[in-house]
Amino acid sequence: MKILVVEDEENVASFIKTGLEEEYYNVDIATNGKDGFLLATSNDYNLIILDVMLPEIDGLDLCRLIRMKGIHTPVLMLTAREDKVKGLDSGADDYLTKPFSFEELLARIRALARRRQFPVEPLRCRDLKIDPATRKVTRSDKEIYLRPKEFALLEYLLKNKNKVLTRTQILQNVWGYNFDPNTNVVDVHINFLRDKIDRDFSKKLIHTVRGIGYVIKENDYNLQA
Ligand code: CA
Repeated sequence: MKILVVEDEENVASFIKTGLEEEYYNVDIATNGKDGFLLATSNDYNLIILDVMLPEIDGLDLCRLIRMKGIHTPVLMLTAREDKVKGLDSGADDYLTKPFSFEELLARIRALARRRQFPVEPLRCRDLKIDPATRKVTRSDKEIYLRPKEFALLEYLLKNKNKVLTRTQILQNVWGYNFDPNTNVVDVHINFLRDKIDRDFSKKLIHTVRGIGYVIKENDYNLQA
């Protein structure tokens, strides 16, 4: 599940990002309304968390602009008490009054997720199965334990099964847009995943496409990027 956080206060933004990543969410951060708008309209998020007081475009206007673009992603507004009603008028789905505890934030996110019914169908590739709702991963019914980033990576590969993904696509979707593009973090985590889901099985699921990236696929036929 991918979440956009638009928040100009660095400590609040990093508090939210760190906490949500520990809960297996993928988080992008924008620190002003304009960047928030660009990210919200060019990516597919499951949830947008918007601070009301933002430079460039404030949270209320940003929410209206996003809705005007036809984007119906649930919006959770972070607000001072007096802004409550205004926030909901702008098309936000819920609000949270600052300061809030992380547990409160998680509870709101879960509630919004239930209301919008995010996809929780298990994802499969041959005998590999992951359940996004319970985070359980099995291959041939044997349970496999993945770390949060490994899980996010596998989930992204499975959602794009049989499709070749570039390192940049993987980096942007699993690690977020503001990650150094020269990092080898994708290759490193692909190796971790291979150790856990492919090493003990004769049939390999993760394939390297030279010069391009990676694919998880059911069959051995050649795929075009
Ligand atoms: Ca602010």
